[in-house]
Amino acid sequence: MGANVSQLEREIGTDLFPPNEHYFGLVNFGNTCYSNSVLQALYFCKPFREKVLEYKAKNKRPKETLLSCLADLFYSIATQKKKVGSIAPKKFITRLRKEKEEFDNYMQQDAHEFLNFLINHINEIILAERNAGPVNSNNNGNNSHGKSGAGGASGGTSAVHLPGSKSNSSHSNSTTNSTNSNSNSNSNSTTTNGNSSNSTGSLNGTTSVLDGSGILTATTTPILPTTNGANSEPTWVHEIFQGILTSETRCLNCETVSSKDENFFDLQVDVDQNTSITHCLRCFSNTETLCSDNKFKCDNCCSYQEAQKRMRVKKLPMILALHLKRFKYMEQFNRHIKVSHRVVFPLELRLFNTSDDAVNPDRLYDLTAVVIHCGSGPNRGHYISIVKSHGLWLLFDDDMVDKIEASTIEDFYGLTSDIHKSSETGYILFYQSRDCA
Ligand SMILES: [Zn+2]
Repeated sequence: MGANVSQLEREIGTDLFPPNEHYFGLVNFGNTCYSNSVLQALYFCKPFREKVLEYKAKNKRPKETLLSCLADLFYSIATQKKKVGSIAPKKFITRLRKEKEEFDNYMQQDAHEFLNFLINHINEIILAERNAGPVNSNNNGNNSHGKSGAGGASGGTSAVHLPGSKSNSSHSNSTTNSTNSNSNSNSNSTTTNGNSSNSTGSLNGTTSVLDGSGILTATTTPILPTTNGANSEPTWVHEIFQGILTSETRCLNCETVSSKDENFFDLQVDVDQNTSITHCLRCFSNTETLCSDNKFKCDNCCSYQEAQKRMRVKKLPMILALHLKRFKYMEQFNRHIKVSHRVVFPLELRLFNTSDDAVNPDRLYDLTAVVIHCGSGPNRGHYISIVKSHGLWLLFDDDMVDKIEASTIEDFYGLTSDIHKSSETGYILFYQSRDCA
């Protein structure tokens, strides 16, 4: 360990070591690499780190929450005397295990589920503290769907009215294909479900159903409903991660176009062999025809009609988190299989699937961090992350930190053949808008 640490400093060079920066690995507490990899990625998302440290500075003696534990951890890393080393995120993991039953064990977890939970949960804490109310995230029903696989069935039960979003109440993410409305036709609609961790059950239910349908191209992560007017002011979590998708539906009978906005914290895209993330995003926004069981209820025609629908990005977030859906439910195996398709993710990214009225369509993004899944399946394997810091690329593998060359990144694109073989592949990409750097 010690040898490795000093080696990193030597490799970077004492003169070139970024001032006030610390590269600390995180000790693994029994399959907690899913958490370690995501925490490192988030630590190196500059706006996020700054806000968490600001929270720490403003809340000297907070009630212990997952956010206060995260703030303590970030603060501890940021104030280390040594420049490199490792640290044990014990308090954070203990709190996480208390906070969410699904994480209260020593099994491998899905890093995206964890990210989704963490972002939503932190947002809830901020909202609750803003209202000086109790943090009741455990019993408000928003976290109860993660593993139930009932996301589809429960989809329409809570209408979400987010700031900036129009009526979502009919927008259930029913996966049963039986309600004959546009709401069940596209996985994008899961956004507005209002169950903060609904889509996080991706390994166990919700997404598997969606994948199995063969229709769906992508999902967005649902965002918490804001429960009252006082909460409608965006939090810093919203400011950093939230973007807006707009879905436009054109009735093929009367040609009326109706559009609806939905907020998202990350975009979940399907992966195809030998493609790029730009291609995946284009597919995400492909026009889809709603027909037969999926007809659209046109308000103008007052009846169900065939329609064309597409989802495009209307507001580009400061940090764009992209989840590559690499764990696919395969009916013939009756389980999730990892798809190691080669998907190129560039260091610079511009979105092309923006709406005509997009607020900031030209945002240029820089790749900041990648959570990488190593292994052959969702329930085994390992997570690591690579991050960019002051022009350097670093690889965090639990308590180990190594400097890597930027050219190494392409090793994590995926495989061009034998896609079910074990592989080390980009799983969650974090792109930071250049205008906030
Ligand atoms: Zn119509």
